[in-house]
This record gives sequence, structure tokens and C-alpha cells, in this order.
Amino acid sequence: MEHMKRKTEIDKLEREEHLEREEWIGLLTGWDEEDRAYAGERAREISHRYFGNRIYVRGLIEFTSYCRNDCYYCGLRRSNTKACRYRLPEAEILSCCEAGYGLGFRTFVLQGGEDSGYTEDRMIALIRRIKALWPDCALTLSVGEWEEEAYRQFYEAGADRYLLRHETADSVHYGVLHPSDMSLAHRIDCLQKLKAIGYQTGCGFMVGAPGQTGETLAKDMSFIEELHPHMAGIGPFIPHRDTPFGKNQRGSYKLTLFLLSLLRIMEKNILLPATTALGTICDRGREEGVLAGANVIMPNLSPVAVREKYAIYENKLCTGEEAAEHMDRLQNSMRNIGYEITFERGDWKERQREKGKERTRQWNINMISCRR
Ligand code: SAH
Repeated sequence: MEHMKRKTEIDKLEREEHLEREEWIGLLTGWDEEDRAYAGERAREISHRYFGNRIYVRGLIEFTSYCRNDCYYCGLRRSNTKACRYRLPEAEILSCCEAGYGLGFRTFVLQGGEDSGYTEDRMIALIRRIKALWPDCALTLSVGEWEEEAYRQFYEAGADRYLLRHETADSVHYGVLHPSDMSLAHRIDCLQKLKAIGYQTGCGFMVGAPGQTGETLAKDMSFIEELHPHMAGIGPFIPHRDTPFGKNQRGSYKLTLFLLSLLRIMEKNILLPATTALGTICDRGREEGVLAGANVIMPNLSPVAVREKYAIYENKLCTGEEAAEHMDRLQNSMRNIGYEITFERGDWKERQREKGKERTRQWNINMISCRR
């Protein structure tokens, strides 16, 4: 009985790209392995329809570990006096891009803490330089919250995409994860502005973050439905000992895979990475992420000497298949499960809506952000 109900809900999600709050909560709290296998099958079929067996890659450059924020879950939070801080000079970032270009990468992702040492002007100059040297590459930024004008200037300087995880779509839960000088409303405001400026925009959250419930996860899924982002990053929460959540449990591997599948089923053409965090908690994480519906992998292109210092959580994977210099290994592991790495830029593509499946729902994201 219960199985039939959940299967029907997964089918409804595929058809209507929407579930009611209660349906989400039921599905996300009552699921079992059979449901996960079914969602995985549907998700794989959809991925194949949109992307074939191709997996996009992005070269990730973690260019600064300084951060002015104090997010309770992150090893780079400003209160963590044990964190090793580094800030790559521009020349070194360009060397990473050059090496990455040689390896075949056509997307670079600049990720970092919110580092006042990298001012708006410095960011603009860096973006211009990268786009002048490698005009055929896409540039993704993942550098947190800025004023709208800064986002606009970065875009005009050539940045193409922006990753800003919303972290949780429940404002009370947001307050459990962040100090009071940060707010969900502001985070959402940033995401809406990024999208309006023209960035291919990504949101996302950690699975199993402290305080997460079926209800907050249900809100995350409805939020993603309404924001309708181009990309979404979800990975398990992994504790870092030098943070307030150091003794919390890590997020569930299987729930992460299930959520990846549900995201693929709802947002069919979304760019969805099998994240480093997923690969960190399980050796087969990247492969199983792809088999659950992910279609992007982001190998580490940071200078080897700083990789361990970018410790947002403990034991973060940065070697082997996770390392950009071992693309052959990643290619092999993908081939083993029937996929191929492709070096295309891999931009988001509008899809033809299947007949009868037009979105009819209202854009009511403001309702979500204000609702508890
Ligand atoms: N400062 C940037 C980049 C943050 S790091 C920003 O604010 O967007 C990128 C992501 O890593 C975060 O959005 C968060 O979801 C994730 N992250 C941080 N700490 C983590 C942890 N302990 N376990 C798993 N993921 C974590």
C-alpha cells in the first residue's frame, strides 16, 4: 500500500513537476530502498533523454580560504582560529586555468570564502583576465553574497554562472545553521538577483545538516521548484571538528542519492553535480551519484599545495579521481558505468516542454521566503 502510494507520488513528480507539501514530507520521511531504486531508474532515464551518456566536468579552483562569515557548519568560518588561511595571487589562479585548459577543461569555477582581500575591483580584473585569455571557457563564481551592483559588474566582466547554495529554505532552520547577521531572505534575494542579471544560477543544500527535518527538506524541494535554477548542488553534511557542529552526525549517503534522483525527476534538464562531499563519504559516491541522475563532476584544479587547506569539512577528497590531473581515472570510472566525460562547456539548455506539461503554477517565491 505505502509503496504504491510513494511510487504514485514519484510518477506524479515526473508528470507534473510538483508535489504538495504533505506529499513531499511523506515521501522524504517514509521512503525505503525500493523507492530509491525506482526513483533512480526514472532519473537515469530522464538524464539519458536530455544528456545521453555524457558527463560534464568543471575545474574547481578554491582560490581563498579567508572568510568573514561564521556559518556554524563550515571549517572556514572566521571563528575557526585553527583553519589554515591562504589567498592565491592572481598569477597563480591564472596558472591553474592554464593547466586546466591544457587538461581539456572548458569551465572554471572560482570558489572561496567571503574574503575582503578579494575586493570587487580585484574580482572584476581577475574575471576580465580569465575571459580574455580563455574566451572559449565558461566562468562560474561561487563567492557568496555581494551587492547587486557587484554581481552585475562581475557578469559584465564575463562571469557566466553563479553558485550560491540557499542551504535551507526554512528561515528558522537557516537560523540554526547561521549566526544572526545572515538571513534566508537575503540569500534568496541574492539568488533572484543573480538569475535576473542573466547568470546561469545554482542553489542547493547539505543533506543531513543539523536541524534538518522532512519538513525543511520538503521546503527545499518546493523552493527549487519555484526558483527553477539552472544548477543545484547537494551533498551530505560532513562535520568539521573545529566548528560548533563538530560532533554532529554526517548526512545520509542514501538519502543524498535519493534526493539527487528526485531533483532530476522534477527539474529534468538541471545541471546536477555528483559533489565532492558525496565522493568523500563513499568511494563509489561519484559513480552512484551519476547513476542516481547527476550529470556534472567538478574535479579539483587548485594548486596541490593548498588543497588540504580548503577544509570546509574534514578529510575532503582532493586526490585520485577528484584531482583534475587524474582525468584518465575519472574517465575510466565513468566508462565502467557506461558514461563518458565530455569537455564541452556544458551550458544549461532550455528544453522543449513535453506537450501538456507546461508549467502552470505561479511564481510565488516570496511566499516561501516569508513562510516559516
Ligand atoms: N562562501 C561561498 C562558498 C561556500 S563553500 C558561499 O557562501 O557560497 C560551498 C558549499 O559547501 C556551501 O554552500 C555549503 O553548502 C558546503 N559546505 C560547507 N560546509 C560543509 C560541511 N561541513 N559539510 C558539507 N558541505 C559543506
